[in-house]
Amino acid sequence: MDPEQAVEMVDENTICVAAILGSTLNGEFEDVKRINDLLEEKNKQTGWETPIHVDAASGGFIAPFLYPELEWDFRLPWVKSINVSGHKYGLVYPGIGWCVWRTKEDLPDELIFHINYLGSDQPTFTLNFSKGSSQVIAQYYQLIRHGLEVTSLPHRSGQEDSFGKGADTIYIHTITQGYRNIMENCQENAMVVKEGLEKTGR
Ligand SMILES: *Cc1c(COP(=O)(O)O)cnc(C)c1O
Repeated sequence: MDPEQAVEMVDENTICVAAILGSTLNGEFEDVKRINDLLEEKNKQTGWETPIHVDAASGGFIAPFLYPELEWDFRLPWVKSINVSGHKYGLVYPGIGWCVWRTKEDLPDELIFHINYLGSDQPTFTLNFSKGSSQVIAQYYQLIRHGLEVTSLPHRSGQEDSFGKGADTIYIHTITQGYRNIMENCQENAMVVKEGLEKTGR
């Protein structure tokens, strides 16, 4: 997407400008900061409040770890919502995805269905009805299990004697990989595959 062209096309009926962070085809990032700055200017001139949605399905679990300085998210004032696929680089099996809004006010209440189900209010902004929650738990597990960085966690294990002293205490070290390290490995592997493909000359 050409940011200049995109923002030129914005008129009073535009709901939002949707930018892609991590194209499905080749992983390319669109210049969300440039779109934000152009919209800032246009919104000031026109009095409109055209926001940005970032489709970070493929890049939302990559950019924060590999390019923490890159501004594409809520650091930019016109970014009001972001989606990311947990089942891609969130490292959960299909198919979970997330959408986050900047503030509660950015998700209009008219879009939320309030259902009275078996006597209690059930607000929902998704497809009804029963479905498994195992992927939510898997995502939670992955986030707390891996964390941000590689860490080594010592645990004490084994029998304690009657004085509470660990005569045969065993120390176990759990190494957690950290999302940053995992993404760096993914990127290195991708480069090896890319170079291999280039060498085929096809
Ligand atoms: C994968 C992808 C989607 C679809 O996401 P799902 O979580 O598979 O529904 C949308 N946009 C982009 C840019 C993607 O890469």
